[in-house]
Amino acid sequence: MLWTASLCVLWALSVQGAPMNKEKQKVLLISFDGFRWDYDRDVDTPNLDKMAKDGVKAPYVTPPYLTITSPTHFTLLTGRYIENHGVIHNMWFNTTTHEKKPYYQTQFVNEWWDNGTLPIWITAQRQGLKAGSLHFPGTASSYQGQVAMVREVEPLLYNYKNETAWQENTDKVMGWFRDQDLDFVSMYFGEPDGTGHKYGPDSPQRRDMVKQVDRTVGYIRDSAERHRLTDRLNIIITADHGMTTVYRNGLVEEITLSKIPGFSFSDLSFHLVDFGPSGMLLPKPGKLEKVYNALKGAHPNLHVYRKEELPERFHFTKNDRILPIVLFADPGYVINGYFPVQFNKGEHGFDNQEMDMKPFFRAVGPAFHKNLQVEPFETVNIYPLMCHILGIQPEVNDGHLSATKDMLVTSVRTKVSGGADYIKRAFTGLAAVAGFLTIVYVATMTHKLLKNKRKHKRSGSVKSLPVQEETKQTSF
Ligand SMILES: [Zn+2]
Repeated sequence: MLWTASLCVLWALSVQGAPMNKEKQKVLLISFDGFRWDYDRDVDTPNLDKMAKDGVKAPYVTPPYLTITSPTHFTLLTGRYIENHGVIHNMWFNTTTHEKKPYYQTQFVNEWWDNGTLPIWITAQRQGLKAGSLHFPGTASSYQGQVAMVREVEPLLYNYKNETAWQENTDKVMGWFRDQDLDFVSMYFGEPDGTGHKYGPDSPQRRDMVKQVDRTVGYIRDSAERHRLTDRLNIIITADHGMTTVYRNGLVEEITLSKIPGFSFSDLSFHLVDFGPSGMLLPKPGKLEKVYNALKGAHPNLHVYRKEELPERFHFTKNDRILPIVLFADPGYVINGYFPVQFNKGEHGFDNQEMDMKPFFRAVGPAFHKNLQVEPFETVNIYPLMCHILGIQPEVNDGHLSATKDMLVTSVRTKVSGGADYIKRAFTGLAAVAGFLTIVYVATMTHKLLKNKRKHKRSGSVKSLPVQEETKQTSF
């Protein structure tokens, strides 16, 4: 009887689980490049404040090292540390031919991106969902022959700060969600990174750009409302890294490798320097110790590591693309090669433990609590969070849902099928069991009654029910 009751419950649950997909939730992942965690502190940001009130805010999040654009964005899309996803730099390079490609051209180098780790678009599509991407780093590449089904890559020489274009792009993405029923879209804005680099993070120009970001956040939420998406759409807004002021003009002793005694570029087969505060060197055969010893301790603000000796927390060792010597500078400094050629007033690419490298985080939508501030967490954890909301099985990744699940109104896998639904289904299951037991009870009682009646009939008193009816009831 218990076995039959269990079958009843399973049946009730499976029938009730059927409408799941109609209630599935959507996710829009937005990155405002270089939006440092505290950029809302010296500017009025009514829309970001409202988003925190209507949803979830983390005081800051920690990006992976190396804190530069393409590697950290690919971590958002994959949940993997940079050594594991392999997009180790903004620049594709070839140590044999000495070729290097800048950020934009590297977007189109498939093998740079497609090296074993699948971004969420592909995973979602393989599991029956529809995904799109607008300008997000990694969008131009294909992965194991697949691309995001709706995608837009910005043209070369794109103006990343045009607010009208930001609004048009927002409406375009909301149209994808509404008209093409996309489940997931990643969307990228190139600011306030550009302004932070050019004028510095403490400049009035940066503060004006944060106001523009804030207006756009308001526009994004209004657009979701206009497209009637708010009851299904979860919006996550974050960034790839922060920004810090670069010291120069004689204020500090700059780091210029060619000036370091005992160091010579002729000992290197390949180098990647003059790229903010980070650098990588490939010494010629037999020259590694010489190069390392010359640089180690040569400048108080220059850190020099053999790549396998980098602290484990960097997660920037276990990949063949990472060159044997890794350099990084303290905040305020950049690493120059032959002579200073970098003139940005703001930079990123520093140790991800530095507070100035931390981005912001906001999330709003039906999956998220309202007016909740959560503890800071690493950005590798955003990927499993998004997979969970979408109800898809994540690929192997370095994040944990446990780091972000407190921001969810309920376990979303049941929310996708519905938190309330789950209770409803459990209730129906219990009702089925109760019904079954009632029937068994009635049948048993009837059986007993009939037996008694037969006894009475044999003794010649009461009319009996037909035997067939008795059989039908007890074999239920
Ligand atoms: Zn960036």
